[in-house]
Formats: sequence, structure tokens, C-alpha cells
Amino acid sequence: MILLDRVTKVYNRTNTALDRVSIHVEAKEFVIIIGTSGAGKSTLLKLLTKEERPTGGKIVVGGLDYDKLQDKDIPLVRRKIGVVFQDFKLLPNRNVFENVAFALEIVGYGNGEIKHTVPRVLDIVGLKGKEKSMPLELSGGERQRVAIARAIVRQPKILIADEPTGNLDPKHAWDVIKVLEKVNRYGTTVLLTTHNKDIVNKLKRRVITLKDGRVVSDRANAEYKQV
Ligand code: ADP
Repeated sequence: MILLDRVTKVYNRTNTALDRVSIHVEAKEFVIIIGTSGAGKSTLLKLLTKEERPTGGKIVVGGLDYDKLQDKDIPLVRRKIGVVFQDFKLLPNRNVFENVAFALEIVGYGNGEIKHTVPRVLDIVGLKGKEKSMPLELSGGERQRVAIARAIVRQPKILIADEPTGNLDPKHAWDVIKVLEKVNRYGTTVLLTTHNKDIVNKLKRRVITLKDGRVVSDRANAEYKQV
């Protein structure tokens, strides 16, 4: 599903953000990426979403070879990958339903399809009944679940969750993680970055540790280990 082969990213001469990173993630895996600030996690995710281009190495995602893609193909990549961020990035003037619907409107879905699809996705993330709430009326955990609903509404193969619990207290953080696990059970490959040791230890998933732009460990059913 995701293949990185000796991927390097150099932003400028003094700074190698990723150094020959090789990672293979199978479809339907749940992978946690950890590493201290500056380790290269965001850069790795930005290469996958094509916000950044690698300096060297090969990236193939869902059969798309990034070397061969042109700018006009970027929507193909965005279709395969849903993303959620630490700060939710919801539209403040739209309610929950409209925030999720927006992801469909911009790609031309009709009203009927939107009315059919959005409630189903809100149900998955546990927000049935909150359709009309505005983002500011929700808890942080609920807002993040709206963001997840928006990210998965077009059924991407991969969900990237970049520090999704960074702004949440432990209870809400765990609610969000449970939704990610559910999305994963439904067949979506999940990539999660987190600094939260408890979450890593409870999840007991594959953990890839980055340090100074390199993969220093890649273990299944792993616990958090400081490097
Ligand atoms: P993390 O997400 O693990 O905190 P990043 O991928 O953000 O790590 O950063 C890895 C390294 O790349 C850091 O040294 C950071 O300063 C550098 N870096 C990240 N983005 C840029 C950029 N746009 N321009 C220059 N250097 C950058």
C-alpha cells in the first residue's frame, strides 16, 4: 500500500530532514510513527500527501509511483489519502453536517448523495445527533471526530492522523483513538503520529521510530521506547 525506498529529503544544505528512509506498509495495517520534535515525522507525511517532493528515493502509494505523477494527478493522490491534524482545521461557520458535506461538495457530489453519505459517516465516528452543532459548541474530542469523518467520507484507502490527540485530554484522546481503530477495522490503512506514550503502549501496534531523519526502529506489537 505504501512503499518508501531510501527516501531522502533535504530542505537546505545544512538540514537533512529524512535520510534514506525505507518503510513498507501493507494494506489495512495500523502503524504508529514516533520520534522527538524535528525527527522528520511531518516531512514523511508531507511526502506522502505530495505537499513536498523527495530529494531522492522512491515513493509508491496505492500503486501510484510518485516519480511518474504530474501535477494534474495530485487529486488521485488526495483521493487515496485522508488527513487529520492536531488542530482539526474545521470550518468555524459551518455546522457538523456541513463540515463533512464540504469535502463532497468540492468534488462535485450531488445533494442526494451527500444526504445519504454524511449521516453514515457521522454514525461511524459516534456523532449521530450532532449534525447541527457548530464546531465551537463541541468538545475537542468531538471536533477531532468531525475532522475524521470529513477525512474518511470519500473512503480513502489511507488515513493519516498527524498528532490527532495533541490538543486533547486523556479521555477525549482515547475516544479519538478508538475511532481510528474502528476506521482501521473497516479496512483503511492508518498512519498515526503521536507523542503520547500511554496511547502507544495501549495500542500495541507496529511502531516506527524516527530519529534525526532515520528509521532507528520498526517493531510489531511494540511499546513506547525513548531513543
Ligand atoms: P517532526 O515532524 O518529527 O517534528 P519535521 O519533519 O517537521 O519533524 O522536521 C524535520 C527537520 O526538517 C527539522 O530539522 C526541521 O527543522 C526541518 N524542516 C521541516 N520543514 C522544513 C522546511 N519547510 N524548510 C526547512 N527545514 C524544514
